[in-house]
Amino acid sequence: MTSLPTAEDLSRRAREAAERCGVDLAASAGDRPVTSPVNGEVLISVRWQSRSDADAAVRKATEAFGEWRTVPAPVRGALVRRLGELLREHKEDLATLVSLEVGKITSEALGEVQEMIDICEFAVGLSRQLYGRTIASERPGHRLSESYHPLGVVGVISAFNFPVAVWSWNTAIALVCGDPVVWKPSELAPLSALASAALLDRAIAETGAPANLSQVVIGGADVGEALVGNRGIALLSATGSTRMGRAVGPRVADRFGRSLLELGGNNAAVVTPSADLDLATRGIVFSAAGTAGQRCTTLRRVIAHESVIASLLDRVASAYRSLPIGSPLDAGTLVGPLISDSAYKSMQDALLAARQQGGEIIAGGSRRLAEAAPGAFYVEPAIVRMTEQTDIVRQETFAPILFVLPYSTIDQAIALNNDVPQGLSSSIFTSDLGEAERFLGPDGSDCGIANVNIGTSGAEIGGAFGGEKETGGGRESGSDAWRAYMRRATNTINFSGALPLAQGVKFDI
Ligand code: NAD
Repeated sequence: MTSLPTAEDLSRRAREAAERCGVDLAASAGDRPVTSPVNGEVLISVRWQSRSDADAAVRKATEAFGEWRTVPAPVRGALVRRLGELLREHKEDLATLVSLEVGKITSEALGEVQEMIDICEFAVGLSRQLYGRTIASERPGHRLSESYHPLGVVGVISAFNFPVAVWSWNTAIALVCGDPVVWKPSELAPLSALASAALLDRAIAETGAPANLSQVVIGGADVGEALVGNRGIALLSATGSTRMGRAVGPRVADRFGRSLLELGGNNAAVVTPSADLDLATRGIVFSAAGTAGQRCTTLRRVIAHESVIASLLDRVASAYRSLPIGSPLDAGTLVGPLISDSAYKSMQDALLAARQQGGEIIAGGSRRLAEAAPGAFYVEPAIVRMTEQTDIVRQETFAPILFVLPYSTIDQAIALNNDVPQGLSSSIFTSDLGEAERFLGPDGSDCGIANVNIGTSGAEIGGAFGGEKETGGGRESGSDAWRAYMRRATNTINFSGALPLAQGVKFDI
């Protein structure tokens, strides 16, 4: 049986890693316990900040904006380059904190920090490519163009399951775009946040950038709400549940602020008769059971052709039975713990509802290691065979439950893929080019991410990341997602000496 580390051991590792990143543990100490999902015991206690601390952080960041927006973008890039170097140097420290606070296995925690390094590199390049356009003017002696300018303070609210990468996607891009950042991290991962912020503070000090460019406010939903309502936040980038987005979106819209919402997903993979079932099995198992089912892009539904469903189910179920479940810090573990008892309860409730709605549990669902650590929630990832897409399948349950549904025509498969309120990620496993293109086309998957022959999770930073419908419509990270972080101006320059009006309008005086 896997043994779990002691509370003292985890606490020591957390303190040492945080201190190496530059966290002042005495200054951040307080009465709010941070529980490690690894053993269910208290890791450390931190001080939560208040709404007025959040307002003060926005004021400081606004002052920094006055200076930062006039710094040339490639010079702003030098700050992000330094941040990337420091992240590389402290990759293991940050990954340790991520594992301890949210239970990611070491390889995935290192991958999360690598994603931070990657987005820094992307943003440094971008700092020389914030291109506007020159547009053909209809008037002689006129030049029409678009320019992009810093927008203002960016507020970032992040979820527990990507406790640091999501901040970096926003922050690296915001900084090169000329925007300071105020961050409200998940209350479940304050040390990872303080460590990331300490590394950025160091980069700021070393490159001579304004001291208040980066602010982090540790606290609960009330601190997030303070950012949501603060008119000093020009762009509010909020990642979390659809419930949170439903509270945040209208409030930001009400003050005519900009929001970028990255919310829940309910991602499906279609497995067609021509699919390579070995490849599909590997893609499915990583996407569905990896991160213990706690990614926004986790595969939650397999829609398999009736001719392959039995064989696919056999393969996936057999892979599930051999998944190593245990401490995320142990080499070889592939499935770590759920974040909390409430995540475990929502998984059990969903399994019960699935049974009541006609589902048959094919594998998993039971708790593991409960005796070794009563406060930690390790589970066997579950597979549930359904005959139709019932209410419980259409909800996002943030735990490793994979629903498997049959289909007979590709139209039916695409309709099932799209018939959920969320629209984040999707994929098709096929060797049929026509089916693949159909899935990616205008009447195919309605998701922000549509893949062929890979699973639904594990996106690269180079593409714009986000989804449609109840996933919120936001796009972060690569491609041209940077435009959301800038103010666009259309400029008309008249060098003709005359004053011709557009559309041939005459207004002679
Ligand atoms: P959550 O919604 O409980 O919390 C997310 C963050 O929002 C936390 O920092 C929390 O304090 C804050 N918050 C909660 N209510 C708020 C309010 N009313 N106003 C302002 N802030 C508020 O989510 P979670 O449990 O931490 O994360 C899991 C969820 O996040 C899942 O639904 C997952 O799909 C989603 N997620 C989405 C993406 C994406 O990119 N689409 C990425 C990661 C996670």
